[in-house]
Amino acid sequence: MCKSAYLHVPFCKDICAYCDFTRCRYHAGLAEKWLKAIEKEIKQKLKGVTLDTFYIGGGTPSALTYHQLSRLLVMLKPYTRTCEEFTMEANVDSLDIEKIQLCKENYINRISLGVQSLQPELLKMIKRNHNKEDILRCIKELHSIGIDNISIDLIYGLPNQTMQMWKDDLKDIVEHFDIQHISLYALTIEEHSEFGRLHIKNIDEDIEADMYEYAVAYLKQNGFEHYEISNFAKAGKYSKHNMAYWDYDDFIGIGMGASGKQQHQRYDNTKNMQTYFEKGASPTIIQLNKSDEMFENIMMSLRTKKGLNIHQFEKRYEISFLKQYHKELKPLLDQHLLEHSDGYIHATEQGMEILNEILLKFLPDE
Ligand code: SF4
Repeated sequence: MCKSAYLHVPFCKDICAYCDFTRCRYHAGLAEKWLKAIEKEIKQKLKGVTLDTFYIGGGTPSALTYHQLSRLLVMLKPYTRTCEEFTMEANVDSLDIEKIQLCKENYINRISLGVQSLQPELLKMIKRNHNKEDILRCIKELHSIGIDNISIDLIYGLPNQTMQMWKDDLKDIVEHFDIQHISLYALTIEEHSEFGRLHIKNIDEDIEADMYEYAVAYLKQNGFEHYEISNFAKAGKYSKHNMAYWDYDDFIGIGMGASGKQQHQRYDNTKNMQTYFEKGASPTIIQLNKSDEMFENIMMSLRTKKGLNIHQFEKRYEISFLKQYHKELKPLLDQHLLEHSDGYIHATEQGMEILNEILLKFLPDE
């Protein structure tokens, strides 16, 4: 039974230069049509479901007008009232105090802000219309309304981003931002993004790796737990919704561009708006066999500090984990790249640095 659901809002006020997600520039008429289509999908997919976590992502959910956002949140109310964690992504240039109040009234208790950088020239280059003061204002307003669980996204590896800029941003954030969670993203140049079309090149791999390593050490020294390879949280402020992905639980995906996983199937909803309006989610379905699922479960769980829950794995797949993977585990445990403790297998700090190499060892034979 799914305990988590993700809903994708495809609208953004402006389009960022690196972005290749399912999104389009906000258009009032399209947003109205989209609301009608999503209402049908919500009723169909969430009927009879009791959720622990709900996540509205995008796109930029806060790009909807106050009234449109209100309609969406009211539609969701029967299903989100039980949620322990209800997150909405937002950009500071479209999240005003009225919308924050609306979020609070409709059970949203966590906001994830797309910050990306504090450097004016980098923000301009990626086409983000905010500055440090706007972000601080937004965080203050969120706290004033009582939404105290705030996460921010940051990007590293941007063209022209220097190590000093990255260090300055992290210092500023640690010293001045009253937030509980940070997600880091390494820039990938996607072919269909503006960066891709302009043939912008990635920065040097070594500099990018140094940026990541610096952030891990600095955030850890400053009260953030490195609980997942790219995620950091103050005590007790892990993303519960994302933990469901990393625990390889089933989840519902709603909206064009959303994905879900239920009962040994993964589905990817259409990314085409016209198809979505005319025919609904129209998902592409992938049937997962047992060995696909076992590998994906290992891959997702080893991303986290707590690691893979052996008992849960054995219950799911009716095999002995330690026996099944003895050949793969033994050298990794001996080399102190993985550790076995309290019913979990987790990557050590050293193991985390070469996690992709470790995961390859668990790849099922063709
Ligand atoms: S990065 Fe986020 S805000 Fe920017 S265009 Fe993409 S979805 Fe929209």
